[in-house]
Amino acid sequence: MTVQHFLSISGGKDSQAVLCKAIERMDHKGLAGFGNMPPRFLAADNGHENPITLEHIDYLSSWLQQRTGLSIEICSANDVPGLTDEAAFARKRAMLREEWSKEKRRKRHRGECSRRREAINRAKLDPAELAEAKAAWRAACDCPVMVSPPVPDDLIEQALAHLYPTRIPFLDIAMLHGRFPGTKTRFCTDETKLVPMMHRKQPLLAEGVSIVEWIGERADESAARAKKLPIQSKRHPNGARQVLYRPIFRWTAADAFAISDRFGLRHNPLYTMGMSRVGCSTCIMVKKRELRMWAMRFPAEVDRVREWERLVALVSRRTAASLLPAPMVPGAADDHGRAVIDKAVEWSRTGKGGRNYDLLIELEQRQADEDGLFCESEYGLCE
Ligand code: SF4
Repeated sequence: MTVQHFLSISGGKDSQAVLCKAIERMDHKGLAGFGNMPPRFLAADNGHENPITLEHIDYLSSWLQQRTGLSIEICSANDVPGLTDEAAFARKRAMLREEWSKEKRRKRHRGECSRRREAINRAKLDPAELAEAKAAWRAACDCPVMVSPPVPDDLIEQALAHLYPTRIPFLDIAMLHGRFPGTKTRFCTDETKLVPMMHRKQPLLAEGVSIVEWIGERADESAARAKKLPIQSKRHPNGARQVLYRPIFRWTAADAFAISDRFGLRHNPLYTMGMSRVGCSTCIMVKKRELRMWAMRFPAEVDRVREWERLVALVSRRTAASLLPAPMVPGAADDHGRAVIDKAVEWSRTGKGGRNYDLLIELEQRQADEDGLFCESEYGLCE
């Protein structure tokens, strides 16, 4: 059976550790360790990546090229037909006038009701049981209904005039959704990363080639990750297997850094700048402290996000848009509890409770302004 191995490279320490594991296997077994097919290395550039991470992926690709003759392929949502191209925007423009000229009613499920719905979705019910459980949940739901009035014609025209591809996948996806992703609707990962990578794998699966996907996930990252399995496999109708392989599942963050050190590889410099996540700039799941460091170090990125929020607001029915979702940052009641980037950065500079400017934070900012920026590793890299 033909097998193709794929490695996803994000520019972070875990995928770099997986890259090292693959090279270790190649050193010991040669291509025989990969079913005699050279493994393929994929990274997704969604246009919202930190430029330092893109440079780091470039560095890893050059290192790989020198060592094995292979390199990292860059995937983009722009390569997937119908995802962010003119056809996708034309579909959206065609639907928008009709959708926005009607009143929109939507239930906002909260608290216990939300938890009941999540429990139903998590339970492995057969279709009949699922339909029954959902019907019971709907009958018991008394959550408030949100009513959005029809949108005035001038705002519809304004949105239609701006609904054209920018060729920046993250921005285009947000414009097509009329909003930025949220904690529960994280379409950014799916549509700007997973789908473009799957687009490279799908033709092989369709030809009956089995694929093994090496993934840099570790159990100690979160309770949800700990529930996953080191190896998962599913069979496609044509007989091809799709295997998810997590070679560093039982490792700690320190183990991940250590293998790169053994191979003499540099770490992503963002780890020494106070970032625990090094992908998007900035990730929607950013922590308060990281948000503060990001804004301090990358003011041009804050300007870019502010401009993106303006563009997405122009094509949003709510006429407002903010990158960071409500549970991450306390925001304005008139924007579903979300805060635009400037408000979020302001909040990140406050102490616990979000009201008082912390004296230490002020001092930190002053030191950064006066003495240049300092090393802030979350992983003790500078110790
Ligand atoms: S914003 Fe965060 S969750 Fe979304 S794709 Fe980027 S890194 Fe992933």
